[in-house]
Amino acid sequence: MSNPSAGMIPVSGIGYDVHRFIEGRPLILGGVEIPSPRGLDGHSDADVLCHAIADAILGAVGELDIGHHFPNTDPAYRGISSLELLRRVSEIVRNRGGRLLHIDSSLIAEAPKVGPHVPAMRQHLAEVLGLPLARIGIKATTNERMGFVGREEGIAALAVASVLVPDEVPSEM
Ligand code: MG
Repeated sequence: MSNPSAGMIPVSGIGYDVHRFIEGRPLILGGVEIPSPRGLDGHSDADVLCHAIADAILGAVGELDIGHHFPNTDPAYRGISSLELLRRVSEIVRNRGGRLLHIDSSLIAEAPKVGPHVPAMRQHLAEVLGLPLARIGIKATTNERMGFVGREEGIAALAVASVLVPDEVPSEM
């Protein structure tokens, strides 16, 4: 029986993102629109959680960050769903012969309460990344009223990704 992990090694990547609150935009986190008087500012849908996850995945496979792949100066990405960006990131992993194993993440927000929406976010991420629900972690915490998150100026997100990649040094490195 062939082992699909033969010749593959596990690697990991880290991602961080932050977006500021702005009036007049919906709040989208993990692909879910969350009831909120304000949304996040950004060129795309400003889904800070998806962006942190995208950077974690890209970092794991030795790629440059999300801003390089989907520049905020490109009108093609104006208002784009960040779930679509994540779908494209998972394509990059497949094109490199990699296999995404696991995602973990934390949302850091003082308000609104995001906990009740986490199951729906995990569902979206599972679909777009092709992972079982059990391999997608999303935690939510506040910043204990300290700093820019504590003053409700914006939302931050952290993520890590684990990926199996071919055990070879890519030629461009
Ligand atoms: Mg971002």
